[in-house]
Amino acid sequence: MQTDTKTVVERKDLQGLFDSLKKAGYGLFGPTLGGNAIVYDRISSTDDLPAGWLDNQDNGTYRLSKDKTGALFGYTVGPTSWKKFLYPPERRLYEVQKDERRFKIIPSEPKVEKQAFIGVRPCELAAIAIHDKVLTGGPYADTAYAENRKNLFVVAVNCTRAGGTCFCASMKTGPKATAGYDLALTEVIEGGRHYFVVQVGSDAGAKIMNGLTHKDAGQAELQAAGEAEAVAAAQMGRKLNTDDLPAILNRNFDSPHWGNVANRCLTCGNCTLVCPTCFCMNVEDTTELDGSRAERSRRWDSCFTVGFSYIHGGSIRPSVAARYRQWLMHKLAYWPDQFGSFGCVGCGRCITWCPVGIDLTEEARLVRDGDKGPKS
Ligand code: SF4
Ligand code: SF4
Repeated sequence: MQTDTKTVVERKDLQGLFDSLKKAGYGLFGPTLGGNAIVYDRISSTDDLPAGWLDNQDNGTYRLSKDKTGALFGYTVGPTSWKKFLYPPERRLYEVQKDERRFKIIPSEPKVEKQAFIGVRPCELAAIAIHDKVLTGGPYADTAYAENRKNLFVVAVNCTRAGGTCFCASMKTGPKATAGYDLALTEVIEGGRHYFVVQVGSDAGAKIMNGLTHKDAGQAELQAAGEAEAVAAAQMGRKLNTDDLPAILNRNFDSPHWGNVANRCLTCGNCTLVCPTCFCMNVEDTTELDGSRAERSRRWDSCFTVGFSYIHGGSIRPSVAARYRQWLMHKLAYWPDQFGSFGCVGCGRCITWCPVGIDLTEEARLVRDGDKGPKS
């Protein structure tokens, strides 16, 4: 089977994909119901998928509802992202043991498992591509991330419904997957039939497909998949105008608007923790009280904490306004210089999970509206 081949897998045969991946030695991770939300977790069969569950999202709002279609991927995105598996919230870097008058350093080798992600949205493929660049693209690669990445199999799922806070079309990251997957599925439910059009994205994907029941995609099935994908693009209500955005934000560094956001922002850091591209971390040491042992760990951090920007003598971003500005400007103004793309993929999580409903598309628009243009 060639890359880009399109085939059809019936709903009843989808378990074959899970079985084929397990046989190839992959641990399976995908969407499932957990704590009144759809979260990514370890799964083992299609029974674990959130059949018929839809998420309804808006600023500061997330609710699940059930429909009758039985769609396995009818939801959009939840509070978790794939970074929790590729770049876990906590990782021990090494341990130090006191051995009489000497110290022994014991490096912590990360436990690497072959992982198959099932249900990666197109915007999330873009987020993983961003992390690839940030965490492995420079002279100081994150070796644990690189190992996880090497052992990853990606089953993407094209969106056939836009969530209330999505704006991937503005960021050109969705709603259809174009790269970065081994297999890409489009779910179609019509006329009493439930099936998936599967596009092969790599040799590894072709190999897995050989292990499950499928048939060549016909014209009618391809058309139905195309129509389902078009629904998500047409539904997307939220937009971010990215034209000249880094320059506009940079020249409005001192805009009074940052103070307006600060009146609402709680600096809780939710937006950074749910964001699939935020990667800031802190390194912490923990020592036994008797001095016999210590360990050094890396933990996710957030630019919303005062301590994050602590440099000898104090924090360089003591105000809420400075911390919110840093977050938004890193995503939309500084990131293009650093990494050649925006640091936002338009997944909408930060809007949904902000307890006071702050919306970066709206805040960026207000800065743009107040822009007086370049100084002459
Ligand atoms: S900044 Fe918000 S919308 Fe953009 S990728 Fe992060 S969570 Fe998603
Ligand atoms: S913008 Fe919202 S989610 Fe982010 S720190 Fe402020 S209150 Fe929390």
